[in-house]
Amino acid sequence: MKIISINAGSSSLKFSLFDMNDESVIASGLFERIGIDGSSYTIKFNGEKITQEVELPTHVDAVNILLDKLTDLNIISSLDEIHGVGHRIVQGKDVFKESVLINDDVMEKLEAIKGFAPLHNPANMLGIEAFRKVLPNVAMVAVFDTAFHQTMDKTTYLYPVPYSWYEDYGVRKYGAHGTSHRYIAECVKQILGKDEFRLISCHIGNGGSITAIKDGKCIDTSMGFTPLAGIMMGTRSGDIDPSIIPYVMEQEGKNASEIIDDLNKRSGLFGMSEYSSDMRDILARCDEQDEKAIVARDKYVRRVVDYIAQYYVLLGGADIIVFTAGVGENSIPVRRQICEELACLGIKIDVELNNKRGEMVKISTDDSDVLVYVIPTDEELMIARDTLHLIDR
Ligand code: ADP
Repeated sequence: MKIISINAGSSSLKFSLFDMNDESVIASGLFERIGIDGSSYTIKFNGEKITQEVELPTHVDAVNILLDKLTDLNIISSLDEIHGVGHRIVQGKDVFKESVLINDDVMEKLEAIKGFAPLHNPANMLGIEAFRKVLPNVAMVAVFDTAFHQTMDKTTYLYPVPYSWYEDYGVRKYGAHGTSHRYIAECVKQILGKDEFRLISCHIGNGGSITAIKDGKCIDTSMGFTPLAGIMMGTRSGDIDPSIIPYVMEQEGKNASEIIDDLNKRSGLFGMSEYSSDMRDILARCDEQDEKAIVARDKYVRRVVDYIAQYYVLLGGADIIVFTAGVGENSIPVRRQICEELACLGIKIDVELNNKRGEMVKISTDDSDVLVYVIPTDEELMIARDTLHLIDR
């Protein structure tokens, strides 16, 4: 039973091919610079890695080559082995509250909402359209980054702004990284062996969001109308006073979208350190006592702590806090600093247990009031699981 999980960007297409009998990855890879000069693909399978430069005028060409390679390299014996294809979609608005089987009606709805994620949804749709052309008889599923957050109540998802902005323009909190937070919630259910739990899921990578989860359902999340909101990130500011925007527009003679670009691409760790968006670089500079890097790191930690504390209260306490994504899975000192700043909640981590990277591990001490875990996220697997589940239903 094989499922392909797809994440299509405007000029790229990432895939993972799963054998769903044991949820193992049989092959994975990336098609890059689609529609641009110098395009290439990389396919990993059986411990091997093949990279080749090839012309990729459109996503359809990438899908054709992908399927040819899967059979040519004997990764699958025929295309009939592909039971389904799951596609990541960034924004599902309040139209899609869960993953869905793709049909013409779904494509129409996606078309209608694509303006809510103009950089991502049209690109995600290119991936779907390419597979529909090349594999017209294979069932496909759309999995939305926002769907998991559709269980937030109105008090949570509305902004304190004129109500007509919500009614007329759809201004509300949608969140993101939902597939990752849902994966973490499923892991926690397995770890605790029960359906009732209060979980704070910290997906902190280059982008980052924190989600409060009660009994497997999202009740609040740090990202908002767009992924610019919430905690400080690699290059994004997270929450700021919106009055800064017209003020800097005037100072620098820029328009609103140029300032939003600054907030998305030149803020966060990068903006504060004036050096790098990568936490590894920031930590290396901190070791050299670079003041800007130290303040950037401390601000980053502070914003994560702010949200954990907020959600601790919202959930009426927490049973478990989970760290995931690039920083959460790998940055030993950042996890330690976050947990030390949460000591007043009775959170204690074991420095030895915390000394690990990229693996599932409990890092809290036995006498900590809250369990703390590191769990590597797996959005691709979650997409494949949903795909299998919906096709079989
Ligand atoms: P994205 O949001 O793009 O998916 P990732 O989840 O891959 O990002 O996270 C990328 C970030 O993870 C990097 O920018 C880096 O800051 C951080 N990271 C990865 N490995 C380490 C490490 N060993 N120590 C500290 N930070 C790390």
